[in-house]
Parts: sequence; structure tokens; C-alpha cells
Amino acid sequence: MKIKNLPSTILFLLLPIFAMAQDEYCGARQPDFSEKNMDEATLHRMQELELFTQQWISENQTKVSLREIITIPVVVHIVWMDESENFTDLEVEAQIDGLTADFRKLNENRAIIPTTFQPLAADVEIEFCLASVDPNGKETNGIVRTQTDFTNVGTTYSTNRRRICYNDIGGSNSWDSEDYINIWVGQLGGVIGIGTFPGEEISTEDGIFIDPSAFGFFCSSSKGYFHGRTLTHEMGHFFNLHHIWGKSGCDTGDLVDDTPMQDTNYKDQCPTHPISSCGSEDMFMNYMDYTNDDCMAMFTKGQKERMLAALDSEYRVSLKSSGACDFGNIKDITLTPDDILLFPNPASDCVHIDLDLDNDLPVRMAIFDTAGREIYSNQVFVKDLRTFDISNISNGIYFIYFESNDQFASKKLIIDN
Ligand SMILES: [Zn+2]
Repeated sequence: MKIKNLPSTILFLLLPIFAMAQDEYCGARQPDFSEKNMDEATLHRMQELELFTQQWISENQTKVSLREIITIPVVVHIVWMDESENFTDLEVEAQIDGLTADFRKLNENRAIIPTTFQPLAADVEIEFCLASVDPNGKETNGIVRTQTDFTNVGTTYSTNRRRICYNDIGGSNSWDSEDYINIWVGQLGGVIGIGTFPGEEISTEDGIFIDPSAFGFFCSSSKGYFHGRTLTHEMGHFFNLHHIWGKSGCDTGDLVDDTPMQDTNYKDQCPTHPISSCGSEDMFMNYMDYTNDDCMAMFTKGQKERMLAALDSEYRVSLKSSGACDFGNIKDITLTPDDILLFPNPASDCVHIDLDLDNDLPVRMAIFDTAGREIYSNQVFVKDLRTFDISNISNGIYFIYFESNDQFASKKLIIDN
């Protein structure tokens, strides 16, 4: 029996209803040097950063091709009002795994990249871990939870302080932004995500903000942007990427050489390639467009260069030596049933299958029924395990089996369609 990714036709029929309620998709403040959309000091910092970026790119082509994986710790602050916004640890882990998969070009939908653009698609070689060391040196799972009394806690202020960033006004204090990327999940009142540019914000408000409606990697369409790519997009801004269409029109670009000039965005759409504007085919499947989650699938090599430059800038460089991913770091693979994450379980229609291991080894994955018959087998990588359509599998008990080198483990899955 063939298991394929969840067909999304029905899910996308529901999306426009959700999306109409949103005024804007993304609330990131993209610096605009001609319109001066920020205060002078901020704009000056970002202009300096732009010069640094262009120079870095021209001088560091060998560094770009080193194939060195950079791992960056994140802390996720869940600032919830309604119980439904209080995401489980598993949901948070799946979201961060999805983020890494997108940055490592291990995203489950990478086959949708058109042939023309495939040579440009980059493995950015940045990975993200939920911090395992907290700012006091204690072990942590990298998730902080706070219940708040404030609606739109992520976009409201008290004495010029963004509420979601401070304990004393209904939010959650940032962890030192030199060592962690702070990701706050809380109501944003209209936008679904905000990423701060390097040097844009004071350190206690530097990071990423995601509305609960767009956080996480889900099987169901009960959420609008349900494959976690709002975080991928905002992380692009955090590493100094602009929207792929610039600021609309054919005379403003995204400061990246290998992305085609594009007139405007494809918000809430899943277009069919090719569509052209400004005299070339549009790269609407780029994470820095506004396309639906399942229809975006790539960063380019030029975007990768900009992000690596940002990571060498004074605003982001310390993240590379943070060490907050390293508490009890396991180098050798030991596979136990506890490493296999299945949810939901019992499952119907689709299931998320993940391995909670900190490496990127190839593993064999198989599914057996109770009679020992193998109904699925494939060679996969630890980090690219995502969602499986199980709607065609008969109800019953199954075993999810993983094998790597001499290690193997299995876990029971109940299918109840
Ligand atoms: Zn954006």
C-alpha cells in the first residue's frame, strides 16, 4: 500500500475564508531606505548592515560553500489566553523540526520546485534546536509557558514596551538574545507573523512573533496556515531577507541577485508555474512570498548568502557560539521507542511521525500490521519525517519501525479512521 502526503485540495478550499479576516500576512518592518520608514538611527544601522552584507557576499564565496552546519538555539514562549493556544511540547517540537527541514532543504514538499528554479534552491545549512540549557545553565526543554489576560498581547504596548516580551505586563521575558532566538507565540491581532530585522529592535524585543492561528505543523485545516511556514518566512526576515517582490512594482527588488524581479505577492494563492511579471517567471514558491504554506518550498543560494552574512554581523554572530543546544549532547545514535514521536495516536486521516534525535542520519522506516506484514518501507532522513496520509489504511493496530545501523525500535500506532 502506498502512503503519500496528505492531499490538500479540500484543505485549501477552506483557507480563503480564514485569510479574509487577516488584514496583512506579515508585520515585519522591512527597511526602506528611500521612504525612510523607520527612525533615523535605526535606518542608519540597517544601511550600515546592508553595506556589510554586500561586502561579505563578495568576499566570502568560499565560506558559503564550506558545507558547515550551523545550529542555533531557540526558546519558544507560549503566551496563551485561550486553552487552544497552549500548544503541547510535541506540537512545538514538530514546528521547530519543520523549520529546520525547510532551512536544510529537507521539506516534504520540495518536489514542487519547478525544474527552472531547482538549481537555485539552497540547503541553507542552518538548523534550529529547542534550547537544552537555560540562561542559568540549567537543563530545559526550551519552552516557556505563560497565561495572559491581554488580547493581542503581541501587538499591544504598555509604556512603549511590547507586552508579550515582559513578565510584568502580561508576557514572557526574553532570554538573552545573544544566545537564543526568542520566538513568542501569542495573539497578534490581524497579522500572522512578525520577524525583527538584525539591528532593528532593542535586545529584549528582538525575535519572532507568531499568531497562534499560524503556529505549528498540523494535519487538519482547522487552522489557516497549518504547515508552520509562517515561522520559516519570519526567520528569513530575522536573518535580513526582504519579501521577494520588494515593495511591489518592477523597480524595487529584494536585494538578492538570483531571485527574479516580481511585481507583487501571491497572498493566499497556490499558483501554477509558470506565471510571469516584470519580464521573467515569478518564483512564487519562495518562502519570502505570501503563498499558501504547502505551495512554498525554497530559499535561493543568494538568499542563503544574505542569511549567512547576517549571522556574521554584530547583531547575530553570537548565536553561533551560544552552546545552548549542547546539554548532554548525544553524538552516537541510540534508538529507543521513546525516540519515536507519534501524534495524534490513535490517529485518523493523518499522523505525524517524528524521530526525536539530534542528527541527520539516514534511517529505514517501515510500518507493519499485527500479522507482521510490511505495508510501507522507505529510506528517510531523521529530520524529514513529517505527515503521512493514513486515510486509505484499514482500522487497527500497526507498528512504526525505525532502523539505523544496528539500532532499531518500534512503537504502536492505532488507526481509527
Ligand atoms: Zn514578511
